[in-house]
Amino acid sequence: MQQADIGLIGLAVMGQNLVLNMADHGFKVAVYNRSPSKTEEFLAAEPDNPNLVGCFSIADLVNSLQAPRKIMLMVKAGQVVDLFIEQLLPHLQAGDIIIDGGNSLYTDSQRRTEALQKQGILFIGTGVSGGEEGARFGPSIMPGGNPDAWQAVKPIFQAISAKADAAPCCDWVGDGGAGHYVKMVHNGIEYGDMQLIAESYHLMRYGMGLSAKKCQKIFAKWNKGVLDSYLIEITAEILKFTDADGKPLVDKILDAAGQKGTGKWTGISSLELGIPVTLITESVYSRCLSALKDERNKAQKVFGKAPKPPKFDKAERKALLKAIHDALYASKIISYAQGYMLMREAAKEFGWQLNYGGIALMWRGGCIIRSTFLGEIKNAFESNPGLSNLLIADFFSKALQESHENWRKAVIFGIQQQIPTPALSSALAFFDGYKTAKLPANLLQAQRDYFGAHTYERVDAPRGTFFHTDWIQSG
Ligand code: NAP
Repeated sequence: MQQADIGLIGLAVMGQNLVLNMADHGFKVAVYNRSPSKTEEFLAAEPDNPNLVGCFSIADLVNSLQAPRKIMLMVKAGQVVDLFIEQLLPHLQAGDIIIDGGNSLYTDSQRRTEALQKQGILFIGTGVSGGEEGARFGPSIMPGGNPDAWQAVKPIFQAISAKADAAPCCDWVGDGGAGHYVKMVHNGIEYGDMQLIAESYHLMRYGMGLSAKKCQKIFAKWNKGVLDSYLIEITAEILKFTDADGKPLVDKILDAAGQKGTGKWTGISSLELGIPVTLITESVYSRCLSALKDERNKAQKVFGKAPKPPKFDKAERKALLKAIHDALYASKIISYAQGYMLMREAAKEFGWQLNYGGIALMWRGGCIIRSTFLGEIKNAFESNPGLSNLLIADFFSKALQESHENWRKAVIFGIQQQIPTPALSSALAFFDGYKTAKLPANLLQAQRDYFGAHTYERVDAPRGTFFHTDWIQSG
């Protein structure tokens, strides 16, 4: 029998869809799942698919593969990945490749790459984005790990990935944990984009008193302009969706958000590396705050409800909607700029050579944050590969200059109406801080020196020269 091109372990949502995608592209895939019933069900649903090979032991799976063997894990992230690596190792030979396509922590991928390299096994830790539909018809794939493995998996990954402007949304990201790091930042940006849309909706729906239907029309219109993106598109779809009684389903969903950890990891990494990724971190905190539903119910009884929406004439309403639109757009620019600042610092810290324009292209199609906007990020890095910050690239600095007055109006409206806008307003605070040559950190330094003799630098002395003052002045 012809041997399979690749093996895949883990037949849950992502694994099943990736297998079918690979099979559609002519690759023969050997499949295995811990619970054999899932493998049986999967094969039974595809009786005439010639590209599937069902396996019921790890040994069978490995033996059904052509060398070098490529085995992809699509299982629960964490210990389960290590468990499968341990089970695979006795059956593998030098040069074989293990690929982890789950949402693994980048430090785990770094560790696995190094440990497996010592045993002659090549490891790839890859981000796969796009959910169920992406996996089935073209995900964004962000592989990193051992570069010697890339040429062997490249034809499969680039064939099954989404395409943007005919280019595959998949390319080599970098050594060790680079692939999973970039996927983590992608997910963090996804948290930020979702929070910005939710805050804009909150301002329109409860600050301005618009109906779900009206909000749906506004998002659908925004999706035809600079905000054109998958998340804006599905937001409009969600707002249109009605429950059995004809009322918007969104109104019946409990306002307590869940999370699986990749946004939190992005926030933690930003603190570790000292990069102010404020918008993503605020988005994680917003989910945490939303989860305190019972406490919020009690607090509303103490402090009362937010004021009722004010009356608007047509022109005022139009102007405010434009302000919210511009606030969302400007904040989105800040979020991506912060994400790129983080990746740049991580690359420095871990010795990765990241291709920033290439990353924007990988995110351009297939994944949850796909948008036309990413094309502009790709252009910015292509025209200036050494770009220090997206905010000062011509396209984005012009957009911020054009939108920041409106951005302030939207945030002020939120403050007046007691509508929380942590992402929109923290992005504005970051922008104002980033473009301010003199911040009050001189006073902070003085305080630190006062109570802890932490020393300070002076504006009239060379950088790196430190002073201490005895702050108790007599007289
Ligand atoms: P999942 O629910 O995260 O994992 C289910 C798979 O893991 C099943 O094959 C299950 O086997 C196996 N598994 C769980 N615990 C196990 C254990 N203790 N020992 C052995 N096998 C175990 O599946 P998923 O949603 O398809 O996601 C797969 C990976 O892709 C995850 O890392 C996830 O974070 C990532 N991801 C998911 C999405 C998404 O939209 N769902 C998007 C991008 C990335 P059994 O069938 O035997 O239980």
